Amino acid sequence: MSDVKQLNFIEEIVEADNASGKWKGRVATRFPPEPNGYLHIGHAKSICLNSGLARKYGGTFNVRFDDTNPAKEEQEYVDSIVRDIAWLAGPSEKVYFASDYFQKMYEWAQLLVKAGKAFVCDLTGEQMKEYRGDTKTPGRPSPTRERSVAENLDLLERMRRGEFAEGSRTLRAKIDLASGNFNLRDPVMYRIVKASHHRTGTAWSIYPSYDWAHGLEDSLEGITHSICTLEFEDHRPLYDWFLEQLGLHHPQQIEFAKLNLTYTVLSKRKLRELVSSQHVKGWDDPRMPTLSALRRRGYPAQAIRTFCDEVGVTRVDSVIDVGRLENAVRGELNRTASRRMAVLRPLKLVIENYPEGQTEQLDAINNPEDPAAGSRQVPFSKVLYVEHDDFMENAPKKFFRLTPGREVRLRWAYFVTCQRVVKNAAGEVTEIICTYDPATRGGDAPDGRKVKATIHWVSAAQAVGAEVRLVDRLFNVDNPNGDDYLSKLNPHSLEVLTGAKLEPSLGTAKVADTVQFERLGYFTVDPDSKAGAPVFSRTVTLKDAWAKEQAKTD
Ligand code: ATP
Ligand code: MG
Repeated sequence: MSDVKQLNFIEEIVEADNASGKWKGRVATRFPPEPNGYLHIGHAKSICLNSGLARKYGGTFNVRFDDTNPAKEEQEYVDSIVRDIAWLAGPSEKVYFASDYFQKMYEWAQLLVKAGKAFVCDLTGEQMKEYRGDTKTPGRPSPTRERSVAENLDLLERMRRGEFAEGSRTLRAKIDLASGNFNLRDPVMYRIVKASHHRTGTAWSIYPSYDWAHGLEDSLEGITHSICTLEFEDHRPLYDWFLEQLGLHHPQQIEFAKLNLTYTVLSKRKLRELVSSQHVKGWDDPRMPTLSALRRRGYPAQAIRTFCDEVGVTRVDSVIDVGRLENAVRGELNRTASRRMAVLRPLKLVIENYPEGQTEQLDAINNPEDPAAGSRQVPFSKVLYVEHDDFMENAPKKFFRLTPGREVRLRWAYFVTCQRVVKNAAGEVTEIICTYDPATRGGDAPDGRKVKATIHWVSAAQAVGAEVRLVDRLFNVDNPNGDDYLSKLNPHSLEVLTGAKLEPSLGTAKVADTVQFERLGYFTVDPDSKAGAPVFSRTVTLKDAWAKEQAKTD
């Protein structure tokens, strides 16, 4: 009956370490992104996990760029990553860069060479693969495996200075060619890369491999728990080997299962391709699963933290229903977002018995979930806009909204009864003529009569025109991963409405403000907005329409 949350398996490890005094009570975690793309919701899970552990146990959390591959890395990515982490987990006092450790790493590599534990190999990538053997055959030693220490040191230094062509030589650790774990069959520590690095320029012609660099970076920063995803489990013996050989501070690597989401691709390569081939308008296109996109779209950081917390941490690969993320967003916005009225596809409604030229102000509650949010005034007059969808000329019996002869409630206002319609030459309804009952002001009839529908509206004279972007899922199948993912794009992932009409209080909304358009969903002011011409993007619908669709087809 306790509501104390169960510890996840990593918290159990941390608490056991604290109990045994392994790290003298210290908890130091890190998040090590490679600056070769924008962060996505999967990265958010790792950020929340690592920063959350540091917060919970009074430890530290480092943001460290794993910038060891100059070919694919860019400053734009560094900047976006710093911004996104600050948004999700709070600003970092200091940002660390693996490239700051290049010199130190190089000296350690020299130490391994001197100890006879690393050598310069002259095999090409192709040859190396062939020499490495397979599951049944042990690897063959590289012809240069027994080079003298002096020759290795000399060649390594010349590799560093750029004397040799890319791909012509590597530095490899001398470990175990018969190991069942291929990562231990003399793995590469340095390769020659002649590309300009976004921080070190052309100072280096060799760059460390992930396996060589990562443990050293962790060690230098005094990390205690080095948390990564499951695919690195087979690399752990190598992580341990390097640190043992060098006798350095030795963090514990712990693996957990990646976050995967339905209707979503999280591979950086695919996200990069979606951007470069212009299937979306950029990394922060609101349909993308990147943190920049989710923020622009109005997902609160708190909703993402709640979601990551709810899905938990395990060692079993699984795919989480993206609806759970959307629900976390709804839950948060339901508490925090003000309600407003907006008509997306306007149809003119004229109240024939309302005084010409009169405007009155009606009181509308801002957020029924939050009394402190108070109320506002909305203008009401003879000519209004209502949603096209809320009217039907020849309605079936079950249609309770506007149709000739039917009385409905206008939210916060009056009961109105549809009397007749006005049509254009093409026979389309352009206007509906109603009468109102002045006694129902505020939304209730003194005689107790009921209506079955309440619809939203805006007063035409005061309405603010806006563009509204109906953002939906980017893919229309639950598992779009695979090489043919571009064929799974949802052709209706973005619908742009240019003639929406908003209640006047929305005229002063600022970029990133999120409100609930009553009955329609949550919407956020997009940075594409211009003065007097706001653009809203749909953050999330009020209900999970996809779940309903799914239920129908099941
Ligand atoms: P790649 O290495 O292929 O470029 P990546 O997604 O692993 O892509 P990194 O920048 O290396 O990108 O990731 C930084 C950290 O985020 C790593 O520690 C990684 O384990 C973690 N991470 C990446 N994707 C996920 C995910 N889907 N769920 C949880 N953690 C993730
Ligand atoms: Mg990675």
